Amino acid sequence: METTTTRSGTAKARRGGVKFVLLHHGGCLGGGFHYRIDADGGVRAELEESERGQHARSIAVVVDGDFDDVAPSEAQLDALRDLLLKLKLRYPTAEIGAHRQVRGGTQTTCPGKRFPMRALAEWSRNELLSERDAVLRRDFESQYTQI
Ligand SMILES: [Zn+2]
Repeated sequence: METTTTRSGTAKARRGGVKFVLLHHGGCLGGGFHYRIDADGGVRAELEESERGQHARSIAVVVDGDFDDVAPSEAQLDALRDLLLKLKLRYPTAEIGAHRQVRGGTQTTCPGKRFPMRALAEWSRNELLSERDAVLRRDFESQYTQI
């Protein structure tokens, strides 16, 4: 079991691998977010990926704003897609989902009714995978030419 020294020293280490990347919005009542995307699309780490966040076996990403009322900005969605690509390279089998899809959890609309979850899920099954493969191919080719 991997343990991490943290700022507080009280965070729990994650058990098991990362199965999901779960999306949240600023209106989420739970804490335990690994990454926060602010209103301008800035990305900030709040927990180590090795620490347990709001849900077991998940990386939690919160996008600032209450998306029951408004939709996220393009800057936020761009930053989110960049972050999801990085996470997908580290956790190739992790699926991207909404907090509200967690079974047995408390009833929530998180990440908000106006968050484009369907479009993002569609993107994660198509463009995200081809972008991930393109990055892996470039990595491979850059190693190959150095031999
Ligand atoms: Zn949430």
